[in-house]
Amino acid sequence: MRKLNYCEMSEEQLKLKKADLEERYAAFKARGLKLNMARGKPSTKQLELSMPMLDLLNSSSQLVSSTGDDCRNYGVADGLPELRELFAQMMGLEAGNIIVGGNSSLNMMFDTISCAMTHGFSDCKPWGRQNCVKFLCPAPGYDRHFAISEYFGMELIAVPMTPEGPDMDLVEEYVKDPCVKGIWCVPKYSNPQGYTYSDETVRRFAALKPAAADFRIFWDNAYCVHDLTDCPESLLSLWEECRKNGSEDLPIFFASSSKITFPGAGVAAMGASEANLKELRRHYSFQTIGPDKLNQLRHIYFLPNMERVKEQMAHHRAIIAPKFEAVIRWLKKELGGKGIAAWTEPNGGYFVSVDVLEGCAKRVVELCKEAGVVLTGAGATYPYGKDPQDSNIRVAPTYPPIEELELAMELFCLSVELAAVEKLLQ
Ligand code: PLP
Repeated sequence: MRKLNYCEMSEEQLKLKKADLEERYAAFKARGLKLNMARGKPSTKQLELSMPMLDLLNSSSQLVSSTGDDCRNYGVADGLPELRELFAQMMGLEAGNIIVGGNSSLNMMFDTISCAMTHGFSDCKPWGRQNCVKFLCPAPGYDRHFAISEYFGMELIAVPMTPEGPDMDLVEEYVKDPCVKGIWCVPKYSNPQGYTYSDETVRRFAALKPAAADFRIFWDNAYCVHDLTDCPESLLSLWEECRKNGSEDLPIFFASSSKITFPGAGVAAMGASEANLKELRRHYSFQTIGPDKLNQLRHIYFLPNMERVKEQMAHHRAIIAPKFEAVIRWLKKELGGKGIAAWTEPNGGYFVSVDVLEGCAKRVVELCKEAGVVLTGAGATYPYGKDPQDSNIRVAPTYPPIEELELAMELFCLSVELAAVEKLLQ
């Protein structure tokens, strides 16, 4: 039987529907749920996968690195060579162009922006002393990226995302403005839509001719090995394309093991051209006398090569793929064909992006919250936390146990329907 599209319902039908939905919603509320789907965190079961890593380093371990350095001491500013090599393979770069740092890639992004603000790139005036600094924010996107730019007082410009990546016609147009200094990109399994940039998008990034010599592409490859299917999507190497174009100074690459081992206790890396690294190494040389090499060593023992990384990611996938399947199953079953929601079906990453009827996202998040399920705040995926359509909601399936997720999704779908009926009756 064809499901009735809400937009084709008469007022009478909508009123009946609303009464039915309100009754179901009240019953849900009475259950006193307390669930959290706000952030893309690995579940406890996923964290268990890396527990053996903690036993690989003890007082009788080999603590001298292949560089001959005692890992208990200061030094080795670029990080241990084996880990630089591993991140090089993950990120499609060369080990010589990688710095392995501390526990967070977001921290490295913040530091890079901070370095540009106070000291600048390419012998230009520091961004902080230029008249205006604008940053391109593919939206929906990662809230914490946008928050860094906002924190440093930049003007944020939303660039619509497409399944191929950011709208490149617009990006090419915007970079003609010398005030535009950079763009945030999550090129593989983007946060929140799970899109992987097409080859053409990567080539167009490599071929950009920004008016600002100190324009940089922040290429955050946070989900580079985070596949959910047997057919991983492949991302063209921006580094190789930039080398063909002679534009190696454009991109700065980031990744981390946060969602491979432990978020907050993993290792992070950044990669860049020699010229960019010169500036960044100088910045780091004032900031620290060296990274936590014991944690780096622990990671080398646990993940000595890409085969082990892939094996570890297959274990993660076995835990989280059924959760993504549950989310999509609920969305299709409850909302499919009703004309009130559209969603992505990602092959990797940590999120599902749902677009509800315009003007309804805040209400859906509110309804879920009142019935005990916390979602990512509506608008969070847009610059300044403001979704002009009030339509996008980021669903993060990984953290809750599957039984809780099923409940949360039932409530989510109910809330999407209720918010839509309320809107259509206005
Ligand atoms: N980049 C993206 C796109 C993310 O989604 C996240 C976390 O959700 C991060 C970076 C954070 O990375 P890290 O833990 O290495 O700081």
